[in-house]
Amino acid sequence: MSTTIKGIAASPGISIAKAFRLQNPEISIKKITIADTDAELSRFEAALVKSKSEVQVIQDHANKELGKDKADIFAAHLLVLSDPELIDSVIEKIKTERVNAEFAFNEVTTTFISAFESMDDEYLKERAADIRDVTKRVLASLLGITISNPSMISEEVVIIADDLTPSDTAQLNRKYVKGFSTNIGGRTSHSAIMARSLEIPAVVGTKTVTSAIENGMLVIVDGLDGNVIVNPSEDVVQEYKDKKAAYEDKKAEWSKLVNEKTVTVDGHHVELAANIGTPNDIKGVLDHGGEGIGLFRTEFLYMGRDTLPTEEEQFESYKKVLEGMSNKPVVVRTLDIGGDKELPYLDLPKEMNPFLGFRAIRLCLEMQDMFLTQLRALLRASVYGNLKIMFPMIATLAEFRQAKLILMEEKERLLAKGVPVSDNIEVGMMVEIPSTAVMADLFAKEVDFFSIGTNDLIQYTMAADRMNERVSYLYQPYNPAILRLIKMVIDAAHKEGKWVGMCGEMAGDIVAIPILLGLGLDEFSMSATSILPARSQISRLTKAELDHVAQQALTMGTADEVAKLIKM
Ligand code: PEP
Ligand code: MG
Repeated sequence: MSTTIKGIAASPGISIAKAFRLQNPEISIKKITIADTDAELSRFEAALVKSKSEVQVIQDHANKELGKDKADIFAAHLLVLSDPELIDSVIEKIKTERVNAEFAFNEVTTTFISAFESMDDEYLKERAADIRDVTKRVLASLLGITISNPSMISEEVVIIADDLTPSDTAQLNRKYVKGFSTNIGGRTSHSAIMARSLEIPAVVGTKTVTSAIENGMLVIVDGLDGNVIVNPSEDVVQEYKDKKAAYEDKKAEWSKLVNEKTVTVDGHHVELAANIGTPNDIKGVLDHGGEGIGLFRTEFLYMGRDTLPTEEEQFESYKKVLEGMSNKPVVVRTLDIGGDKELPYLDLPKEMNPFLGFRAIRLCLEMQDMFLTQLRALLRASVYGNLKIMFPMIATLAEFRQAKLILMEEKERLLAKGVPVSDNIEVGMMVEIPSTAVMADLFAKEVDFFSIGTNDLIQYTMAADRMNERVSYLYQPYNPAILRLIKMVIDAAHKEGKWVGMCGEMAGDIVAIPILLGLGLDEFSMSATSILPARSQISRLTKAELDHVAQQALTMGTADEVAKLIKM
């Protein structure tokens, strides 16, 4: 019997494949007194052997599929599993304290992790992350829990998970992962954003997809309408094959606009740029007719690994993007970690409200070494193209001034050393906290540009977590409160002769686009796959008419009234 699960269409397209359940089990450890310590030691030995062989298989696979870099992480894991000091301490504990292997192993590794973390040597500090990963594997093996390894997938699948962390998503292999569906998340959660940049169909926020789907079941992910169909009949499979073909035809029609400018019927030009997460996304941007990069989310360079990226690694990535875009504008956002994007190896304490916490520019202004490494890499790369730098999560003028000062001082230092740096780098900021929209007239005097981050601006204005489906009814892009804030920002910038972009998901939303055009937005930055449909839509719109529509929208009382006005 086929069943349909409703969710949120997070990345367009249709995939039909077997389900792969991705599970990150909770591990809880109890202390148990052991009578037969020899048997316990054998159990521990067996878990080590099993873990080693698992890691070995992953390492071989990573070597083949992902390259030596990623595979080396697993070499470090193997070293931990054979470390005599660690293993002997566990054996000692089991023997003398007569405790169970899980408890002993967890106690010992916890001590090792904190010892490594407190070391001054960066390399040794980073080993803490390896021990943490390996600990989880050994404990899972002792407890009989299975850990899934997405990097091991070697046939076409649709991933089914409660949630995918951004780093899970970053490691998905496009060759095999044809789609995914999760219980939680919304259109602007980072797994959804990554799915769009990887061009993998995705349906998120289904609430029940993990309870309804077992490993190996045939699944259709309809990322166009937000449906997941489980155990489809042959007829249903055929129906979706036809739907997929029709979508491909539409894409072929849009692709004719790849080299066109984006112009309304009455000749008003806007720029359609793309949001990217890694240099590998550039090909997709150019294939989809992107006129620039409106947002390079650099945090993805920091994810899916165990250590901070070095200046050299970052320099190469920025250079690759700038060169790849051949002088088209590239807006790089400095590290925006926090919220739903975690970096386990930074070991930041858990917070009650991560979206309102120590994140993004707040963290960079405090961890200045890390910030400076990124800024240096950017400044050095600036001579390879048209670089613009923007700071995320600015809340106050003081923060913007401080961030800009740090950047400018670093630039002077590099120039003094004879390192070439472009003298044309625009410095701007994201407007994603309501305080900055309200104060946009003052910010506009100091920035070179604004980029409105509606994903966060909406959640902070409406006090509705962008990840929480239960309050998603309050997450209202068309709410006049949001439109008024956007208008304030655009008007304030234009008064100072500055340009305004938008890099939140709203910029690629077909209902919002006419209003944003009417409000005077200059640059729309979106998932690469949204660019051609947006260009096609804009080429059929008349700016002069939309100016009136936008004014009308600003006077409406509710988001529904605004949506109705546009759909009329
Ligand atoms: C935003 O908040 O709109 C934005 C583009 O940033 P992110 O989605 O990375 O938080
Ligand atoms: Mg944001």
